Amino acid sequence: MSAPFTLAPLPWNENALEPTISARTISFHYHKHHHAYVDTLNTLVKGSKFADMQLEEIVRATAKSADEKEKKIFNNAAQVWNHDFYWRSLTPSKTEVSGKLASAIARDFGEVSTLIAQLAEAGKTQFGSGWAWLVSRDGKLAIEKTGNAMTPMAQGVNCLLTVDVWEHAYYLDYQNARPKYLESVLANLLNWEYAAQNLEKEDRAVRAAAE
Ligand code: MN
Repeated sequence: MSAPFTLAPLPWNENALEPTISARTISFHYHKHHHAYVDTLNTLVKGSKFADMQLEEIVRATAKSADEKEKKIFNNAAQVWNHDFYWRSLTPSKTEVSGKLASAIARDFGEVSTLIAQLAEAGKTQFGSGWAWLVSRDGKLAIEKTGNAMTPMAQGVNCLLTVDVWEHAYYLDYQNARPKYLESVLANLLNWEYAAQNLEKEDRAVRAAAE
């Protein structure tokens, strides 16, 4: 998918994540914040060398740029990608950790509860806006955090799940209580099937292309 980019549909109804995340929060977050990143990205790439690039290519090509316009393109492209990824990381359906993902979690964390505790800690300790991630980096599962629009995908790292810790993701429901938002999301909404799919399609070519 290259420009013009479109706002991808949500994978569930806007009220589906209640009571953990309200329909009001999803509505603002998706229709205002996410949509604005899509529109701004389209405006910025129009007529540029990025106009025919795929979204992931744009993110990787601009991640380390010192050019002011390319920094803006990075911020908006990465936020489009991060939000699409975040919506799919959440589900109101109870999903189970199974198969290859279960083995990898046992190998790298021991218990699922240890993974969740580390993911919560990453989200709580991300200073300011950003993201907490479960990734597969160099064949090993790991918890990471990134600031603002930064994403492990920019380095070709395979992302499995993410949680948005920008204030707009939780302020209407939890005000400043980011730990409570994290605790509830991690207990109720993580889409383990999506994580398993992402682990399954791990593609070393992606990493090679980024180097
Ligand atoms: Mn957001």
